[in-house]
Amino acid sequence: MALVVQKYGGTSMGTIERIRNVAKRVIKTYDAGNDMVVIVSAMSGETNKLVALANEVTEFPDNREYDVLVASGEQVSIALLAMCLKSMGYKAKSYHGWQIPIITDNVFSKARIEEIDDKKVRADLKEGTIIIVAGFQGVDREGNVTTLGRGGSDTSAVAMAAALKADVCEIYTDVDGVYTTDPNICTDARKIEKVSYDEMLEMASLGAKVLQIRSVEFAKKYNVDIHVRSSFNDNPGTMVTKEDKDMEAVLVSGIAYDKNEAKIAVMRVPDKPGIAAKILSPLSEANISVDMIVQNVSEDSFTDFTFTVTKADFKKALAITKESAKEVEAKDVMTDENISKISIVGVGMRSHAGVATKMFETLAKEGINIQMISTSEIKVSVVVDAKYTELAVRVLHDAFGLAGAAA
Ligand code: ADP
Ligand code: ASP
Ligand code: MG
Repeated sequence: MALVVQKYGGTSMGTIERIRNVAKRVIKTYDAGNDMVVIVSAMSGETNKLVALANEVTEFPDNREYDVLVASGEQVSIALLAMCLKSMGYKAKSYHGWQIPIITDNVFSKARIEEIDDKKVRADLKEGTIIIVAGFQGVDREGNVTTLGRGGSDTSAVAMAAALKADVCEIYTDVDGVYTTDPNICTDARKIEKVSYDEMLEMASLGAKVLQIRSVEFAKKYNVDIHVRSSFNDNPGTMVTKEDKDMEAVLVSGIAYDKNEAKIAVMRVPDKPGIAAKILSPLSEANISVDMIVQNVSEDSFTDFTFTVTKADFKKALAITKESAKEVEAKDVMTDENISKISIVGVGMRSHAGVATKMFETLAKEGINIQMISTSEIKVSVVVDAKYTELAVRVLHDAFGLAGAAA
């Protein structure tokens, strides 16, 4: 008998019929003699609707109330799945994050899980109850409801698996696994059988939303193997696991894209020490993460300071930056929301030269202009005009020989 943690995403929970399908899958594993903890997302589209409602009320919704609102999507789906299982004759019980409790820090809308109490869950499992837990939500130490950032149910699932020392952690979604690139924009994309934590971390942080980045961080830290697979068939999916020797033989394992960033440029700042800190500190104080940064110095000792933030943080970041721009005597603040970040990822890059050059040449051949570049040991990212996203992904996918028959 094993302890199995399964997570079902929004599309898998999208209709009552699909929730019934989830219930049948859960029952199949339970009937095989396993203990079951099931984490679910809100029905597809629901979280977006809630976010839109908040934005209708005010441009800058209150952080605490925003989390109370968006956490409600998962409340609906845990109840529906538990009801469904009970109507099929099984013992099931739904839990909000705070009822477990899943304790987080107090950073609303991007809270981090700090601790999970397993007492209630263990007691229920002993009774043979199937536990249904709301993904995406937690509670801070003052009792406020928090949420873990978009896509956060993946992190709830991996954190539960780590806390319970589960034997299996399965993430059920609407594609068969992790692909060489998003299968919804590149029909040649190939399913990857096995991917290392580090590669998956890069792919997730660079826009492959199939797993939330923090879920992979958790998996790596606590050594949880994640099996990403489809809730619509029984095909084996992708194992996200420790790096092994075979993985290094592949130069580039995947291409990721992210249309979810926007660019802010502080123009013509007198080039003095401390400029970067003056512009970036107020942003980090507001819990806004900056991704790519470029600073150019012109011959006349003025500098342009350009960076990207997520679209969700954009309005707030712009308001803050306009204030700092006055302080550093910048000439202007310019913005561009029509950008896309394209990245190539692979542990094989550590031991092979010329990968970045090949990427730049491939994009140049298509007339795609590169606006920003950043690199790490195992990835190269570029920012381009958003209208080139699909084209850039496809030509890079071809150039690095990623297409092929499904694994
Ligand atoms: P869920 O609702 O199950 O959490 P998501 O929509 O968050 O599902 O994630 C699954 C989606 O991730 C897929 O439908 C696909 O469009 C997208 N995706 C992006 N990059 C990849 C990739 N490299 N491999 C698989 N899916 C990807
Ligand atoms: N429902 C949340 C979202 O749409 C969390 C998740 O689906 O993982 O972001
Ligand atoms: Mg998701």
